[in-house]
This record gives sequence, C-alpha cells and structure tokens, in this order.
Amino acid sequence: MKTQLLSESQFSQAAEIIRGGGLLGIPTETVYGLGADGLNPVAVRAIFQAKGRPQDNPLILHIPEASWLERYCEDIPDTAYRLAGRFWPGPLTMVLRCKKRTSQELEELKNGPVCSCTHFGPRVIPDVVTAGLDTVGMRCPAHPLCRGVIRLAQTPVAAPSGNTSGRPSPTTARHMLEDMEGKIPAILDGGPCTVGVESTIIDLTCDPPRLLRPGGITLEQLREVLGEVAVDPAVTRKMGEGEKPRAPGMKYRHYAPKAPVTAIKGEAAQSAAYILNRLSHTRWDGVICFEEFLPLFAEEEGPILSLGPAGDKGEQARRLFDALRAMDRTDVKRIWAQCPDDGGIGLAVSNRLNKAAGFHIIQI
Ligand code: AMP
Ligand code: MG
Repeated sequence: MKTQLLSESQFSQAAEIIRGGGLLGIPTETVYGLGADGLNPVAVRAIFQAKGRPQDNPLILHIPEASWLERYCEDIPDTAYRLAGRFWPGPLTMVLRCKKRTSQELEELKNGPVCSCTHFGPRVIPDVVTAGLDTVGMRCPAHPLCRGVIRLAQTPVAAPSGNTSGRPSPTTARHMLEDMEGKIPAILDGGPCTVGVESTIIDLTCDPPRLLRPGGITLEQLREVLGEVAVDPAVTRKMGEGEKPRAPGMKYRHYAPKAPVTAIKGEAAQSAAYILNRLSHTRWDGVICFEEFLPLFAEEEGPILSLGPAGDKGEQARRLFDALRAMDRTDVKRIWAQCPDDGGIGLAVSNRLNKAAGFHIIQI
C-alpha cells in the first residue's frame, strides 16, 4: 500500500477514508493521531495492528463539540462541562463513564441486520476502543482540519498518537510517514503541531479528579477550575512491579529513541555543566540542551540539538519529540538531555523526557 499525503484541500477525501472504515493520519494541535471510525470495531482493531499497540491500552475518542458527550457518556459530572467550557476545543481529555446500552437497544441489535462491523458490546462504544473498561477518554481537538474531518465523517474518531508503539509521537506529517509508510492509506498534512505533546488526561470518575497524564492544559489551569486535583504517582515516577496503573498506557515503554537517554533536572547552567563534564567528546554522545547552551557544546563531535530557550517551556514541548526522532537518524550511543522544572507545561515536557529515559533522571 502506498501512503498518500493529503493536503488541506483534500480533507473531504480524508473524511471518506474514516467513513469507509479506513485508517487516517490525522493532524491535531497536540500530536498527529492514527484515526479510525470509533464506532467501527473492525476499523479500530486495525489501529492496534498498524501501531503494534497492546490491546489493553485504550484509545481516546475525538468529537467536534462538547454536545456530543451525551451520545457516548453517562453520569457526566458538572465539572466536565466546566472544563469543556474553559478548555475545549483544546488539548484536554476527560475520562468519563461510558454510556451503557439499554436492554431494548440490545434486543433490537440481536434481531436487526448485522454486518462485520456491528459491535455487540454492552456499551455504546466498542470494547476495543475502551479496552473493555467502563470509562472512555473524550477529547474535542482544536485543530480546524481535524474537527472538519470529524464533522464531515459524522462519527467520533478513535485515535492514539500516530507513532509505532514505543517510539516518540509524531508532530509533523513527515514523522508520521516515517512510522506508517505503507501501512495506512493516507495522512492529512495539517502542518507542525502547535502544542507538541499529547493531551492532558484527567479522570473525572473519581473524587478528587485525578491527573493521569500531564499535557497542554496545565495542572495549575485544572486546579483553577476544579480546586483539588490529585496527581497520579505514575506521572512522576516509574510504576513498580505488580503496581496497577489507572491509565493502562502508563505501564508501557514510551517515547523512546534507540539510544538510552539520561535526563538532567536542576538549574539550567548547572545541568548543562553536568552534561559537559560527562561527555566522551566522540560522535557517540548526543545532547539535547536549552538554546542558550548550544555554544557550550560547540566543540563536540556528536549531534547537539536545541530544545528551545530555557525559559520557554511551550517551545520545549513543541520541539521535544522532533529532537528525539532526530537522534534516531544518527548513530549516537547515548543521549543527554536537559530537563525543565515541573511548573506549567514543564510537567508534561519533564514527564515525556523521563519516560523516554525510562525514568533515568538525575536531579542536581
Ligand atoms: P496515546 O495518546 O497514544 O498515548 O493513547 C491514549 C492514552 O489515553 C493512553 O495512554 C490511554 O491509556 C489513555 N486512555 C484512554 N482511555 C482511557 C480511559 N478510559 N481511562 C484511562 N486512560 C485512558
Ligand atoms: Mg501514544
């Protein structure tokens, strides 16, 4: 299969692919997603296959507006509407109770016409999307092309990030082509992602609400609306053997380039000096540093990449996955990376970097 790169003007073709049960590389403001009709279990199963994703890792359901929530969720708390009012469309995923089918609906289903993509599960969303959980992750993305495609397809789009499982998420159509060439019919090119890290995930089925994954909407912003927000321990540390994570995706290796990463956290000039002192001064060491410290590493033989200015965490979020992927195009044996503090979107950058490093973080 030849993977087609679709331009903005071909977005109705993109919607056709979703309607027809195919897979589409779809741009969002966070990262590129691998989308399919979220009500078609056959199409959704193909996502897992193309990515090599474990079946117990659920997908996020993307909708074009908050009013679609009631179609797929029940017991929706008032907090969901408050968050939607403030942050949707945008990089926030809410975990809510998935709507159950009524006994009448189940009866009709049994007696009605069926096709290979009919799903018979007890909930309105196929189990393959939710990994059989009774909750579902819901997001309304801000990217206009993405919402346009979902609206035209008139179906919620289930999508995880568009990378091969374990690799850094794609933030450009080219990244996605690196991983999905020959595996999917098309990628809709919507330009580079403006956020650059995946959506924030907040679980609203528990009290207090719990942050499962930091992202473009910050913990501080969530607390402004919700008051108390718990932070899942898996956000900042590695899960121990036998520990059961709340978000199934938390237990898997993520975002990792081929060479091992060491993340250094602390005052920026000190973390840069720490890295410089440990370099082998050969092409086997790669460095991802804040913009200001590029001159410090100018003499090094290995690749030196900028993560953006030390004070601009938004830029760091936009650049991180691109930098990790760029390292994969070199033959480095080790990667050293400066890591921002946890304030604002720094928590998301630090979380992805720490996961890429297998939580091999040095705090100085
Ligand atoms: P990705 O954006 O590729 O990381 O995939 C979607 C993420 O959303 C995964 O980390 C999932 O574990 C998480 N997710 C999706 N649905 C749920 C849910 N119902 N409960 C908890 N986490 C979820
Ligand atoms: Mg992912």
